[in-house]
Amino acid sequence: MKSYHYSTNDAEETMQIAEELATCVTPGSVITLEGDLGAGKTTFTKGFAKGLGIKRAVSSPTFTIIKEYLGNLPLYHMDAYRLEYSEEDIGFEEYFEAEGVSIIEWASFISDFLPEERLEITIKKVSETERVLQITAKGTSYEDILEQLAGVKGE
Ligand code: ADP
Ligand code: MG
Repeated sequence: MKSYHYSTNDAEETMQIAEELATCVTPGSVITLEGDLGAGKTTFTKGFAKGLGIKRAVSSPTFTIIKEYLGNLPLYHMDAYRLEYSEEDIGFEEYFEAEGVSIIEWASFISDFLPEERLEITIKKVSETERVLQITAKGTSYEDILEQLAGVKGE
């Protein structure tokens, strides 16, 4: 299991890492985002969407749970926050197995439905503007993606 961490000093830097990651993913990639409210999960997703060439503004899908965007690859932006005490399966697997890339805020709330192989990102708030992003690859194809990111970004 490979894991790297990156420190960022503002939202723009977090978006930049996400934008670079978007150039490393492949069809069907699954990325989970953990971190407290205000950590930067949606900010990360905005940068990621930009990296996929998505022009539409990305906003938090809290009330819809899943939003789809069309880019170089389709993006499925999910927010499981409202599903904390729900056992409901709203068909996540279909998204995980589809052509697009899934990015899931509060993924631990749907842990039963997550594929074993995935890229796990945890964002920790260090100060008002500092964040530490811990990125862990589960599965060899995600290790390749992480290596590629490290190649662009440095470790
Ligand atoms: P979440 O989706 O995790 O609840 P958001 O992305 O909606 O968090 O909010 C994060 C907030 O923190 C935004 O207002 C963003 O501008 C701010 N912020 C400040 N510094 C950073 C940083 N280094 N990385 C990400 N966001 C940051
Ligand atoms: Mg959010």
